[in-house]
Amino acid sequence: MKQSTEETIWQVRNSFLGIYVHFPYCFKKCDYCDFYSEGIGNGPANDELSLFQTYQKEALNRISHFPNLKNKTIDTVFFGGGTPSKATTKLWENFIHFLRSEFEFAKDTEISIEVNPEDLSPNLLDTYAKIGINRVNVGVQTRNPIGLEYLGRHYDKEKYDSLRDTLIHSPIKRVGIDLMYGIPGLNESDFFNDLEYFLDAGLPHLSLYSLTLEKGTQYSRDVKDHKKKEPEERIQSEILLTLPELMEKKGYRWYEVSNYAKPGFESKHNLKYWTFEPYLGIGPGAHGMIEGHRYGNPRNANLYQKKPQEKKYEEVTPNSELALTLFRLFSPFRYLEFIQTYLDVPNQTHYIQTIHSWEKRGLCSLSDGVFQWKKEALLLLDDLILEITN
Ligand code: SF4
Repeated sequence: MKQSTEETIWQVRNSFLGIYVHFPYCFKKCDYCDFYSEGIGNGPANDELSLFQTYQKEALNRISHFPNLKNKTIDTVFFGGGTPSKATTKLWENFIHFLRSEFEFAKDTEISIEVNPEDLSPNLLDTYAKIGINRVNVGVQTRNPIGLEYLGRHYDKEKYDSLRDTLIHSPIKRVGIDLMYGIPGLNESDFFNDLEYFLDAGLPHLSLYSLTLEKGTQYSRDVKDHKKKEPEERIQSEILLTLPELMEKKGYRWYEVSNYAKPGFESKHNLKYWTFEPYLGIGPGAHGMIEGHRYGNPRNANLYQKKPQEKKYEEVTPNSELALTLFRLFSPFRYLEFIQTYLDVPNQTHYIQTIHSWEKRGLCSLSDGVFQWKKEALLLLDDLILEITN
């Protein structure tokens, strides 16, 4: 990526590799969650050790299938889930050693972990810093106990009350949180109070999401049975439109639909998904994209440990996939470079024509091969992406 004095301009980068590792266990399965995860209460998972052994086995299998992986430099590692902070830290430490022994790491490799409030403590962050983790994201969602109950999330009052202080004094400086809006029963001011509370702490990264109704979740069943209400769409649109200006005034860059960062604090790993960079996915329910192929692991920890490497690789189809990721970016990117690298000629023409029509409609700006959405596109984004993929 090239750093301009004004703003980072994203460009095609595919000589690096990211690694995502999925730890599937949580204290409790939240009602709205459609990630592969299982609630197991307090205490470690019974199969923790074997799961981490399988992670190694899978990584080695992927390398033997794609020997070229060895020539890639790892610049991001992301421990996600599930709740990876629930796993014994020593196991993450060993796994980082393993990865370092198998791959070449960049000097400034970003190593992130997702942490849930119940696990967060100054000690945990100290240990993470010592083992080389240099980015932490905490799934807060809301500080409102009624909202947390509505979401079916575990709530530990003491931990929620102390988490801001713990993050302010974190030895790891790349810290962020997730906050959610549109939870039925909560209004705009509930969300903005939470946001102000964390903005006052100067955290460098904020993911601000709207609650969505995902098929197959407890929440969607409850809505169908009229036990719960759908997300508050009117409130969601209002908040979505208010955030860019508010966050900009506070010194944050709006770099993806739901993500804001102080300059230089963007999630390098998540940017890989949006800029179509390759990544190795490890663990049950993980997905990967390597050398023009995608794969998905079984969403079942037992099955995964019995048969770690799902052999099915599907060819990536950039003609239909590129738009789904790239046009979620709200920071500028070199659109011509992406289009020319990934698309066939008829699709290049279609993309360029559509992008020019967006510019005429005042939805984006184009200059010297650089594309950037305008705020006017925000509420239309899903339709616009559909328009360019057709
Ligand atoms: S803690 Fe996160 S991953 Fe686990 S169930 Fe809740 S939302 Fe899903």
